Amino acid sequence: MDYQKILEDIYKEILPYAKEGKQADYIPALAKVNPDQFGMCLKTVTGEVYSYKQADIRFSIQSISKVFALAMCLSIRGEGLWKSVGKEPSGTAFNSLVQLEIEKGIPRNPFINAGAIVLADILLTELKDPETDFLTFVRSISGCDTIDYNMEVACSEREKGYLNAAIANMLKYHGTISNDIEDVLMFYFKMCSVEMNCEELAAAFLAFTNYTPFEYAGYRLSKSRIKRLNAVMQTCGFYDEAGEFSYLVGLPGKSGVGGGIIAIYPHRYSVAVWSPRLNSKGNSVMGMKALELLTTYTEESIF
Ligand code: GLU
Repeated sequence: MDYQKILEDIYKEILPYAKEGKQADYIPALAKVNPDQFGMCLKTVTGEVYSYKQADIRFSIQSISKVFALAMCLSIRGEGLWKSVGKEPSGTAFNSLVQLEIEKGIPRNPFINAGAIVLADILLTELKDPETDFLTFVRSISGCDTIDYNMEVACSEREKGYLNAAIANMLKYHGTISNDIEDVLMFYFKMCSVEMNCEELAAAFLAFTNYTPFEYAGYRLSKSRIKRLNAVMQTCGFYDEAGEFSYLVGLPGKSGVGGGIIAIYPHRYSVAVWSPRLNSKGNSVMGMKALELLTTYTEESIF
């Protein structure tokens, strides 16, 4: 399969959408990002790498960080994790409060903000130095030691993080989180602020692609847990657009409001795409289109 040519063809095809949508300006530091950027990288389990355009420029991974946090929490708590957070699609926006109130403080899944705030609380409870450990895990799984938090982005999000603060307060009220609200929020925002490029993300997600048990920085996932993590990505990775992503792309994946999307084709490749302009659901416009065309042109999807 000539993936390099396919990436080039995809880019030509999606150019008409280049000005559609806008970057996540509810986080002031992200509003400053040049919205007219695009990068894509596909890495196969056999070691081939196909990069296109700005695949080496780092961006805020935002909610893609939730996959790393989930892998760590699954490694620590195993199936017991699901007492604190569900694994059903929410069908609601990533920052919605509505379900959380009705369902008495147990978030629907770990990939909506409420669920990831619970993951942050678990890591704070279980680890002596969660901020260092999270970064060590991400660096180890992606094979890159220079990946780091962006404190400007984390602080900027904290300053305007009214909805996430409301979510954390409701979780605390229901007893779902046990640490200090401010500590939980700041750790959550720091995880979201991690910066990586498409090449690093594609490398990291190979760990979930080849279905071989792994251990990075002391965190271990069995083959069965990798399968389950991919199932949660498939059903919950795109908030209230999870069905649409499944329908159009047909791969497990996860998006972030920094404009990044990661997807995996089990046993074959992981692919990362980035373009900051988002649609109304918070997913990258060009990114969604690019992945839709990738599985259409290659005729490779899990369905
Ligand atoms: N830090 C973002 C927030 O809490 C993450 C959302 C996302 O990437 O979908 O709003």
